[in-house]
Amino acid sequence: MALKKLVAGNWKMHGLSSDLAEVQAIAEASRQYPDVDVALCVPSILIERAVRAVPGFAIGGQDVHHSDKGAHTGCISAQMLRDAGATLTIVGHSERREAQRESDDEVCAKAQAALACGLNVILCVGESLQVRETGKAIETVVAQLEASLPHQATEEAELAIAYEPIWAIGTGQIATSVDIAEMHAAVRGRLGARYGGAGEEVRILYGGSVKASNATEIFQIADVDGALVGGASLKAADFMPIVAAAAEARG
Ligand code: PEP
Repeated sequence: MALKKLVAGNWKMHGLSSDLAEVQAIAEASRQYPDVDVALCVPSILIERAVRAVPGFAIGGQDVHHSDKGAHTGCISAQMLRDAGATLTIVGHSERREAQRESDDEVCAKAQAALACGLNVILCVGESLQVRETGKAIETVVAQLEASLPHQATEEAELAIAYEPIWAIGTGQIATSVDIAEMHAAVRGRLGARYGGAGEEVRILYGGSVKASNATEIFQIADVDGALVGGASLKAADFMPIVAAAAEARG
């Protein structure tokens, strides 16, 4: 059974007040595609204004702390994200795993904290180029997933996985369809082993240089239930053709 596609934008450290017009344009245009879930994960300082600008549209954070409060300078809790109006958050993005040295355990704790607070979670996994070249991509990503997955799925909030090969992020390179299919099947298998039947309902997104010119092909691949999009999510003109491609691929 095909799952409803989810196309989520990750604005990373991009976006000022003046860019709220793009959020509005994306939210407005997304109404044409009720069969696709569309979300934008904007810088935390923009979340509340984005939520006010586009009520009812899914606005998310890009990271969350695993504690509910405390002496964690510069960090943001799941409850704070909810309070600002966010409905989802990314956890375990490779840029944070690398630059902030986030471990699988930490990512797992973040995912659990967010889900427990009612935030939908996009949990990212992916291999480096060196791992891909040594033929260990599947075992590496499956191990990373296994260690990062929340211990239990919740009914209150939804978990999605984003498979993002690190070497494909922001580089213009994408994995081959065969490699994506193989990895998504491995992720699906692991989700089934962990959550049983509920693992079938977890959407698996592909991420890494997704754009209008390759989205249609990517969305045809088995077990690709959407995309996590970085650079091409900043402008409605670049992002909406990806959403349209997801709508066409439905079923
Ligand atoms: C990302 O960072 O999650 C991402 C997929 O970026 P890009 O689309 O720019 O490769």
